[in-house]
Amino acid sequence: MSAVSDFRSRAEGPRASTGRVEVVGLGPGPERWLTPEASEALEQASDVIGYRAYTARIAPRAGQTVHGSDNGDELVRARHALELASTGRRVAVVSGGDPGVFAMASAVFEAIERGPLAWRALDVRVLPGVTAMLAAAARLGAPLGNDFCTINLSDNLKQWSVIESRLSLAAQADFVIALYNPASSARPEQVHRAFAILRGLRAASTVVVFAKAIGRPDEQVVLGTLGEADPGQADMRTLLLIGASRTRLIERTGQAPWVYTPRYVEPSPAPSAAARFDETP
Ligand code: SAH
Repeated sequence: MSAVSDFRSRAEGPRASTGRVEVVGLGPGPERWLTPEASEALEQASDVIGYRAYTARIAPRAGQTVHGSDNGDELVRARHALELASTGRRVAVVSGGDPGVFAMASAVFEAIERGPLAWRALDVRVLPGVTAMLAAAARLGAPLGNDFCTINLSDNLKQWSVIESRLSLAAQADFVIALYNPASSARPEQVHRAFAILRGLRAASTVVVFAKAIGRPDEQVVLGTLGEADPGQADMRTLLLIGASRTRLIERTGQAPWVYTPRYVEPSPAPSAAARFDETP
Protein backbone atom coordinates (compact mmCIF):
# COMPACT_ATOMS: atom_id res chain seq x y z
CA MET A 1 0.00 0.00 0.00
CA SER A 2 1.37 3.42 -0.89
CA ALA A 3 2.00 6.03 1.76
CA VAL A 4 -0.65 8.23 0.17
CA SER A 5 -3.51 5.74 0.38
CA ASP A 6 -2.38 4.78 3.85
CA PHE A 7 -2.85 8.39 4.97
CA ARG A 8 -6.30 8.51 3.36
CA SER A 9 -7.46 5.42 5.20
CA ARG A 10 -6.29 6.94 8.45
CA ALA A 11 -8.41 10.01 7.89
CA GLU A 12 -11.55 8.20 6.82
CA GLY A 13 -11.50 4.62 7.92
CA PRO A 14 -13.52 3.20 10.77
CA ARG A 15 -10.70 1.35 12.53
CA ALA A 16 -11.33 1.30 16.16
CA SER A 17 -12.85 -1.51 17.96
CA THR A 18 -9.89 -0.70 20.20
CA GLY A 19 -9.43 2.59 21.96
CA ARG A 20 -8.75 5.86 20.27
CA VAL A 21 -6.82 9.04 21.00
CA GLU A 22 -7.98 12.23 19.32
CA VAL A 23 -5.70 15.18 19.80
CA VAL A 24 -8.06 18.11 19.60
CA GLY A 25 -7.41 21.81 19.04
CA LEU A 26 -9.87 24.06 20.89
CA GLY A 27 -8.93 27.23 19.01
CA PRO A 28 -7.86 30.41 20.78
CA GLY A 29 -11.04 30.90 22.78
CA PRO A 30 -14.59 31.26 21.56
CA GLU A 31 -16.85 28.34 20.77
CA ARG A 32 -17.43 29.56 17.22
CA TRP A 33 -13.73 28.99 16.48
CA LEU A 34 -14.03 25.32 17.44
CA THR A 35 -14.36 23.14 14.34
CA PRO A 36 -17.41 20.84 14.03
CA GLU A 37 -15.00 17.87 13.88
CA ALA A 38 -13.37 18.89 17.18
CA SER A 39 -16.79 19.41 18.77
CA GLU A 40 -17.89 15.96 17.71
CA ALA A 41 -14.73 14.35 19.14
CA LEU A 42 -15.29 16.10 22.47
CA GLU A 43 -18.90 14.98 22.49
CA GLN A 44 -18.01 11.35 21.83
CA ALA A 45 -14.96 11.03 24.10
CA SER A 46 -15.21 8.84 27.18
CA ASP A 47 -12.27 10.75 28.67
CA VAL A 48 -10.94 14.27 28.17
CA ILE A 49 -7.33 14.96 29.15
CA GLY A 50 -5.62 18.32 29.20
CA TYR A 51 -4.11 21.18 31.07
CA ARG A 52 -6.80 22.47 33.45
CA ALA A 53 -7.04 25.87 31.71
CA TYR A 54 -8.20 24.02 28.58
CA THR A 55 -10.39 21.30 30.10
CA ALA A 56 -12.20 24.09 32.00
CA ARG A 57 -13.44 25.36 28.62
CA ILE A 58 -15.33 22.12 27.93
CA ALA A 59 -18.85 21.41 29.16
CA PRO A 60 -18.60 17.72 30.14
CA ARG A 61 -21.40 15.44 29.08
CA ALA A 62 -22.93 12.73 31.27
CA GLY A 63 -20.69 9.72 31.74
CA GLN A 64 -17.56 11.52 30.54
CA THR A 65 -14.48 11.73 32.76
CA VAL A 66 -12.49 14.96 32.58
CA HIS A 67 -8.88 14.66 33.71
CA GLY A 68 -7.83 18.30 34.21
CA SER A 69 -4.18 18.54 35.14
CA ASP A 70 -1.98 21.24 36.64
CA ASN A 71 1.11 19.31 35.69
CA GLY A 72 3.12 21.17 33.07
CA ASP A 73 4.66 17.87 31.90
CA GLU A 74 2.96 17.18 28.60
CA LEU A 75 4.55 13.74 28.22
CA VAL A 76 2.87 12.55 31.43
CA ARG A 77 -0.50 13.59 30.02
CA ALA A 78 0.25 11.99 26.67
CA ARG A 79 1.16 8.66 28.30
CA HIS A 80 -1.97 8.80 30.42
CA ALA A 81 -4.06 9.21 27.26
CA LEU A 82 -2.33 6.31 25.51
CA GLU A 83 -2.71 4.06 28.55
CA LEU A 84 -6.44 4.81 28.73
CA ALA A 85 -6.84 4.18 25.00
CA SER A 86 -5.05 0.85 25.43
CA THR A 87 -7.86 -0.22 27.72
CA GLY A 88 -10.44 0.60 25.02
CA ARG A 89 -11.35 4.16 26.07
CA ARG A 90 -11.95 6.91 23.56
CA VAL A 91 -9.77 9.77 24.72
CA ALA A 92 -9.71 13.41 23.63
CA VAL A 93 -6.45 15.18 24.45
CA VAL A 94 -7.06 18.90 24.31
CA SER A 95 -4.80 21.84 23.47
CA GLY A 96 -5.55 25.50 22.91
CA GLY A 97 -5.36 26.70 19.30
CA ASP A 98 -4.05 23.97 17.04
CA PRO A 99 -2.74 20.84 18.77
CA GLY A 100 0.21 20.58 16.39
CA VAL A 101 1.52 24.09 17.07
CA PHE A 102 3.76 24.04 20.17
CA ALA A 103 1.25 21.73 21.84
CA MET A 104 0.10 18.21 22.70
CA ALA A 105 0.26 16.46 19.32
CA SER A 106 4.07 16.27 19.38
CA ALA A 107 3.98 15.08 22.99
CA VAL A 108 1.64 12.24 22.02
CA PHE A 109 3.94 11.12 19.20
CA GLU A 110 7.00 11.45 21.41
CA ALA A 111 5.30 9.17 23.94
CA ILE A 112 4.43 6.68 21.18
CA GLU A 113 7.98 6.75 19.82
CA ARG A 114 9.43 5.99 23.25
CA GLY A 115 6.61 3.76 24.50
CA PRO A 116 5.52 0.13 24.12
CA LEU A 117 5.14 -1.12 20.52
CA ALA A 118 1.45 -1.81 21.18
CA TRP A 119 0.79 1.96 21.25
CA ARG A 120 1.65 2.14 17.53
CA ALA A 121 -1.42 0.03 16.75
CA LEU A 122 -3.78 2.46 18.51
CA ASP A 123 -6.09 4.67 16.49
CA VAL A 124 -4.51 8.09 16.98
CA ARG A 125 -5.86 11.12 15.13
CA VAL A 126 -4.95 14.79 15.21
CA LEU A 127 -7.82 17.21 14.67
CA PRO A 128 -6.75 20.69 13.56
CA GLY A 129 -7.73 23.91 15.28
CA VAL A 130 -7.38 27.64 14.66
CA THR A 131 -3.94 28.60 15.88
CA ALA A 132 -3.44 31.91 17.72
CA MET A 133 -1.36 33.36 14.88
CA LEU A 134 -4.20 32.93 12.37
CA ALA A 135 -6.83 34.31 14.74
CA ALA A 136 -4.64 37.34 15.46
CA ALA A 137 -3.90 37.86 11.77
CA ALA A 138 -7.61 37.78 10.92
CA ARG A 139 -8.30 40.47 13.53
CA LEU A 140 -5.65 42.74 12.04
CA GLY A 141 -6.29 42.41 8.31
CA ALA A 142 -3.77 40.36 6.35
CA PRO A 143 -0.33 40.62 7.98
CA LEU A 144 0.62 37.09 6.83
CA GLY A 145 -0.07 37.78 3.15
CA ASN A 146 3.56 37.17 2.27
CA ASP A 147 6.15 34.70 3.59
CA PHE A 148 6.18 34.30 7.35
CA CYS A 149 7.57 32.08 10.06
CA THR A 150 6.80 31.31 13.67
CA ILE A 151 9.21 31.02 16.56
CA ASN A 152 8.44 29.84 20.06
CA LEU A 153 10.31 32.18 22.37
CA SER A 154 10.23 29.77 25.30
CA ASP A 155 13.55 28.15 26.10
CA ASN A 156 11.95 25.42 28.23
CA LEU A 157 12.57 22.83 25.52
CA LYS A 158 15.43 24.38 23.53
CA GLN A 159 18.50 26.48 24.23
CA TRP A 160 18.28 30.26 24.08
CA SER A 161 21.20 30.30 21.62
CA VAL A 162 19.01 28.39 19.11
CA ILE A 163 16.24 30.96 19.53
CA GLU A 164 18.68 33.84 19.03
CA SER A 165 20.06 32.33 15.88
CA ARG A 166 16.61 31.63 14.40
CA LEU A 167 15.40 35.14 15.26
CA SER A 168 18.34 36.74 13.61
CA LEU A 169 18.13 34.59 10.46
CA ALA A 170 14.37 35.18 10.18
CA ALA A 171 14.93 38.93 10.57
CA GLN A 172 17.59 38.91 7.87
CA ALA A 173 15.34 36.90 5.53
CA ASP A 174 12.64 39.58 5.96
CA PHE A 175 9.92 37.17 7.08
CA VAL A 176 6.91 38.33 9.04
CA ILE A 177 7.66 36.68 12.39
CA ALA A 178 4.98 35.38 14.76
CA LEU A 179 6.37 34.89 18.26
CA TYR A 180 4.54 32.42 20.47
CA ASN A 181 5.18 32.31 24.23
CA PRO A 182 6.93 35.71 24.17
CA ALA A 183 7.05 36.09 27.97
CA SER A 184 5.82 34.69 31.25
CA SER A 185 6.37 35.60 34.88
CA ALA A 186 9.23 33.06 34.93
CA ARG A 187 10.73 34.43 31.67
CA PRO A 188 10.16 38.19 31.62
CA GLU A 189 13.54 39.11 30.09
CA GLN A 190 13.68 37.14 26.88
CA VAL A 191 11.29 39.28 24.89
CA HIS A 192 13.55 42.26 25.67
CA ARG A 193 16.55 40.32 24.39
CA ALA A 194 14.57 39.30 21.30
CA PHE A 195 13.73 42.96 20.60
CA ALA A 196 17.40 43.91 20.97
CA ILE A 197 18.31 41.38 18.26
CA LEU A 198 15.48 42.46 15.96
CA ARG A 199 16.27 46.17 16.44
CA GLY A 200 19.80 45.51 15.23
CA LEU A 201 18.56 43.91 12.00
CA ARG A 202 15.28 45.57 11.06
CA ALA A 203 14.21 49.19 10.55
CA ALA A 204 12.89 51.07 13.60
CA SER A 205 9.70 51.74 11.62
CA THR A 206 8.90 47.99 11.33
CA VAL A 207 5.29 47.31 12.33
CA VAL A 208 4.88 45.26 15.53
CA VAL A 209 1.62 44.00 16.99
CA PHE A 210 0.86 42.74 20.49
CA ALA A 211 -2.24 40.57 20.05
CA LYS A 212 -3.41 39.68 23.53
CA ALA A 213 -6.12 37.15 24.52
CA ILE A 214 -7.56 37.07 21.01
CA GLY A 215 -11.17 35.91 20.98
CA ARG A 216 -11.51 36.37 24.75
CA PRO A 217 -13.55 39.02 26.55
CA ASP A 218 -10.35 40.89 27.49
CA GLU A 219 -8.88 40.81 23.98
CA GLN A 220 -6.47 43.66 23.30
CA VAL A 221 -4.54 44.58 20.17
CA VAL A 222 -1.71 47.09 20.44
CA LEU A 223 0.06 48.37 17.33
CA GLY A 224 3.49 49.95 17.45
CA THR A 225 6.87 50.11 15.83
CA LEU A 226 9.94 48.05 16.53
CA GLY A 227 11.86 51.17 17.52
CA GLU A 228 9.34 52.49 20.04
CA ALA A 229 7.15 49.63 21.33
CA ASP A 230 7.72 48.42 24.87
CA PRO A 231 8.38 44.66 24.71
CA GLY A 232 7.48 44.50 28.40
CA GLN A 233 3.77 44.62 27.50
CA ALA A 234 3.93 41.02 26.15
CA ASP A 235 2.74 38.27 28.47
CA MET A 236 1.95 34.58 28.13
CA ARG A 237 -1.40 35.33 26.50
CA THR A 238 0.17 37.50 23.81
CA LEU A 239 0.97 36.59 20.24
CA LEU A 240 3.61 38.99 19.03
CA LEU A 241 3.83 39.79 15.32
CA ILE A 242 6.89 41.46 13.83
CA GLY A 243 6.18 42.80 10.36
CA ALA A 244 8.34 42.34 7.29
CA SER A 245 9.77 45.44 5.60
CA ARG A 246 6.66 45.67 3.40
CA THR A 247 4.09 45.17 6.18
CA ARG A 248 2.15 48.41 6.51
CA LEU A 249 -0.94 50.07 7.99
CA ILE A 250 -4.01 51.38 6.19
CA GLU A 251 -5.26 54.24 8.35
CA ARG A 252 -9.02 54.69 8.86
CA THR A 253 -10.96 57.52 10.42
CA GLY A 254 -12.24 56.67 13.88
CA GLN A 255 -11.20 53.02 13.65
CA ALA A 256 -8.07 51.00 14.18
CA PRO A 257 -5.93 50.75 11.06
CA TRP A 258 -5.74 47.55 9.07
CA VAL A 259 -2.39 45.78 8.98
CA TYR A 260 -1.40 44.00 5.81
CA THR A 261 1.56 42.62 3.92
CA PRO A 262 1.27 42.78 0.13
CA ARG A 263 1.57 39.49 -1.71
CA TYR A 264 4.05 40.80 -4.24
CA VAL A 265 7.73 41.51 -3.70
CA GLU A 266 9.47 43.76 -6.25
CA PRO A 267 12.47 42.20 -7.97
CA SER A 268 15.58 43.18 -6.08
CA PRO A 269 18.33 44.95 -8.07
CA ALA A 270 20.98 42.98 -6.15
CA PRO A 271 21.52 39.31 -7.13
CA SER A 272 19.74 36.95 -4.76
CA ALA A 273 21.67 34.63 -2.47
CA ALA A 274 20.52 31.69 -4.62
CA ALA A 275 21.82 33.34 -7.79
CA ARG A 276 25.18 33.96 -6.14
CA PHE A 277 25.40 30.31 -5.14
CA ASP A 278 24.56 29.28 -8.72
CA GLU A 279 27.49 31.26 -9.98
CA THR A 280 29.95 29.59 -7.65
CA PRO A 281 32.06 27.15 -9.68
N1 SAH B 1 -1.33 25.47 20.40
C1 SAH B 1 -1.49 26.88 20.62
C2 SAH B 1 -0.20 27.55 21.05
C3 SAH B 1 0.32 27.08 22.38
S1 SAH B 1 1.70 28.01 22.91
C4 SAH B 1 -2.04 27.53 19.34
O1 SAH B 1 -2.03 26.87 18.29
O2 SAH B 1 -2.45 28.70 19.40
C5 SAH B 1 0.89 29.27 23.90
C6 SAH B 1 1.05 30.63 23.24
O3 SAH B 1 0.10 30.78 22.19
C7 SAH B 1 0.82 31.82 24.14
O4 SAH B 1 1.95 32.16 24.92
C8 SAH B 1 0.50 32.90 23.12
O5 SAH B 1 1.70 33.36 22.51
C9 SAH B 1 -0.29 32.12 22.07
N2 SAH B 1 -1.75 32.20 22.30
C10 SAH B 1 -2.57 31.19 22.62
N3 SAH B 1 -3.86 31.61 22.70
C11 SAH B 1 -3.83 32.94 22.41
C12 SAH B 1 -4.83 33.96 22.32
N4 SAH B 1 -6.14 33.70 22.53
N5 SAH B 1 -4.44 35.22 21.99
C13 SAH B 1 -3.14 35.49 21.74
N6 SAH B 1 -2.15 34.57 21.81
C14 SAH B 1 -2.49 33.32 22.15
